[in-house]
Amino acid sequence: MKIFNTLSRRKEEFAPLEPGEVKMYVCGPTVYNFIHIGNARPMIIFDTVRRYFEYKGYKVNYVTNFTDVDDKIIKKAIEEGVDADTVSKRYIEECKKDMEGMNVRPATKHPLATQEIDGMLEMIQTLIDKGHAYVARDGTVYFRVKSFPGYGKLSHKNLEELQSGFREIKVTGEEGKEDPNDFVLWKPKKEGEPFWESPWCEGRPGWHIECSVMAKRYLGEQIDIHAGGEDLIFPHHENEIAQSEAANEKPFATYWMHNGFLNIDNKKMSKSAGNFFTVREISEKYDLQVLRFFMLSAHYRSPFNFSDELMEASKNGLERILTAVERLDGLKGKEGPGVGLLQEETKGAALLKRLVEKFEAAMEDDFNTADAVSALFEMVKLANTTATESSSKAYISRLTQEIKNLSNVLGIITERKTQDLDQEVEELIEKRRQARMAKDFALADEIRGRLLAMGIVLEDTREGVKWKRV
Ligand code: AMP
Ligand code: ZN
Repeated sequence: MKIFNTLSRRKEEFAPLEPGEVKMYVCGPTVYNFIHIGNARPMIIFDTVRRYFEYKGYKVNYVTNFTDVDDKIIKKAIEEGVDADTVSKRYIEECKKDMEGMNVRPATKHPLATQEIDGMLEMIQTLIDKGHAYVARDGTVYFRVKSFPGYGKLSHKNLEELQSGFREIKVTGEEGKEDPNDFVLWKPKKEGEPFWESPWCEGRPGWHIECSVMAKRYLGEQIDIHAGGEDLIFPHHENEIAQSEAANEKPFATYWMHNGFLNIDNKKMSKSAGNFFTVREISEKYDLQVLRFFMLSAHYRSPFNFSDELMEASKNGLERILTAVERLDGLKGKEGPGVGLLQEETKGAALLKRLVEKFEAAMEDDFNTADAVSALFEMVKLANTTATESSSKAYISRLTQEIKNLSNVLGIITERKTQDLDQEVEELIEKRRQARMAKDFALADEIRGRLLAMGIVLEDTREGVKWKRV
């Protein structure tokens, strides 16, 4: 299995620290609002990576945090006149609902920053004791970047380059820094902010330390995979490496995986520009399974543009799989080899085997989900063209099992929510009726076509429109 490692900028063969096990840490969201569709990308992608490892027989220990202490959370709490805890608890619950809709499985452990302060105090003290951190006069603790020779190895930046970038910048409140590259491990409280006792001052942790501590506590000092969006490479992950490796004196993560950004209108999502969607907003228009399928249709490292057209295409693609599975489930088939079909079934079974191999080869080439999805579509086509009532039970069952199994690896639920579908069909039929009344036959035909793509055939009878599944 090959994984593109940001550390080496190459695809590398996956070799776990312990045979048969994967220890994986994924940086989670800061919970001050509903998650947006950009945050959904790493959730879906790395959930799929986890599922694939499990499909291959690995035991996966999957840890992803919620950052529940942060400036944005505090700001929101002040605006609402509640405490920070109320804000973060609310959005953790909302995030979990969105995850369920996207069929993102709960992690083995979802640690919260505020519950891990003791571990952070301990790691910061170790860093001070080893000369990798220092306490400024106001009680702020900084990591001494120059003390860690590997700094810059993930983002492929060197210290001189960073230095010149910082030369002109003087940040108020950070006068106690020995060097502009140094970063905060612990900072003094401000009026009205949540704080904890510490040997240095009453205050709260910097952001980077939480992930180093949680990864160590729940996975160990050395882990296999550390992942997140590409914006985290610098400084967050670079700083995590510095903290963990300086404190533990061991290499931290073997593989660093980063997803590309999800854009809207080929621009970075931003609230002020109005090109910004939460997952909850999308769920009002689409089943979140469609959003999942959409994310899988591109390679995870590429930038990806969100658009209605691509979402519609994903909806139709997903529909094609669900319709095929539904038809297969309804086929009874014959005992023994199908009458006169032995040869065709042997050919079909051989093609199916090749397609499973194609799916696996795609996933094992740095999780190329786009190619894996196209292998799945080819299986659907094989099922649609070769499985009939005269096929053998064994052939139908093999096709059904493989399609369901590989869909599950991608996190696609193949059981249709029948009630939802019936309602959707009825609504489309009503729209078509109105279009015909308004003599908009083009629209009426388009709706008929859409229903057909969903496997629904309409019959105009004297008693009105009837529909059936094909
Ligand atoms: P945050 O809450 O900003 O720390 O983000 C949580 C996760 O979402 C991190 O892994 C980010 O890298 C990722 N992320 C944020 N915005 C986007 C985006 N537009 N596209 C892809 N990933 C993103
Ligand atoms: Zn992190």
